[in-house]
Amino acid sequence: MRNIKNLECSKCAKTHLHTVPQNVCHACGKPLFARYSLTAALKREDLASRAPTLWRYRELLPVGDEANIVSLGETMTPLIHAKRLGAAVGTLCKRASLAEVWIKDESRLPTGSFKARGLAMAVSMAKALGLTQLAIPSAGNAATALSLYAAAAGITAHIFMPKDTPAFNRETCELAGANITLIDGLISDAGRIVAERKAAEGWFDVSTLKEPYRVEGKKTMGFELAEQFGWELPDVIIYPTGGGTGIVGMWKGFAELEALGWIGEKRPRFISVQAVGCAPIVKAWEEGMPEAEPWPDAHTIASGLRVPQAIGDFLILQAIRESGGAAIAVTDDAIREAMHLLPATEGLLTCPEGAATVAALKQAVANGMISPSERVVLFNTGGYQA
Ligand SMILES: *Cc1c(COP(=O)(O)O)cnc(C)c1O
Repeated sequence: MRNIKNLECSKCAKTHLHTVPQNVCHACGKPLFARYSLTAALKREDLASRAPTLWRYRELLPVGDEANIVSLGETMTPLIHAKRLGAAVGTLCKRASLAEVWIKDESRLPTGSFKARGLAMAVSMAKALGLTQLAIPSAGNAATALSLYAAAAGITAHIFMPKDTPAFNRETCELAGANITLIDGLISDAGRIVAERKAAEGWFDVSTLKEPYRVEGKKTMGFELAEQFGWELPDVIIYPTGGGTGIVGMWKGFAELEALGWIGEKRPRFISVQAVGCAPIVKAWEEGMPEAEPWPDAHTIASGLRVPQAIGDFLILQAIRESGGAAIAVTDDAIREAMHLLPATEGLLTCPEGAATVAALKQAVANGMISPSERVVLFNTGGYQA
């Protein structure tokens, strides 16, 4: 049942062995993608009898031996029809009600955010490969997820995060017994420290997209979405973008579903949302650039979006462009306002990053980028934290 074939560079296509730990491409330093033999006669009807967790897609995931799965109960997240939010946004934008707004509520996952999907996969593969020391630079939720999954696997986690990371993330890492270093700087500075020290310390770096399997976990958001909509993808996905693993993962996942014949050619337009105080992808998209420049003095209340530079920038921009989508920036004030709108209309609590997608919906409907009749999915990527 092991369908993974190898790892392939997302830029230069050089192949690498998946049977040994790998970070980035040896030739060009870009992210590696897992490639599978998708010829096995797997039918989408086969899924019906499986448990509602992300492991139901196991033939399309890298973990070969189920004994290596490290699971905290990665439930399929609900897709909620947000009719009252759609009506409210229509009114606020002086347009018709939006009848087809849906929330993919990732706050239900273990560890408090959708980072669980990626770290469940990375830690399971670390276990399969015999790794015992994992290091991560994080803006917050990835650190919490790694700390908890590593604890469950009996693996040591070394966490590097900005000293002003939300208290929830710092405390949860402590509770899980991780080794924590607080950095006077941003996630990119934390990444530099991990890169400098990992060889001497014997740590394996599980930075987003410098580790090939977190993106495999994240792609299951796209699988669930397709399955929950009866294998018909929506018109638009609005996604809060930091390191970009979610967009890159879903885009990869959709290609795999099409290769299996489970979906057709239709793709949603990706609307990537960033904060005005840290919008490197938006700037690159607006300027028509293939890669993004590092963002100086990154700041926003949405800590998951405080990523001044992403190794997968070219992949995010490629997915946005190929999907016919866009990248837009929202202010922290608009995020604060949207923190009310979702609970007040739908009873759903949201993280600031999830609220950013609501703010972006308003902006995109007001300026005509989204028409009120379209089916739109917003990703609420994590839970509300007081
Ligand atoms: C990490 C994070 C993001 C950004 O996700 P990427 O897939 O890395 O772009 C968005 N929201 C929350 C809550 C996060 O923790």
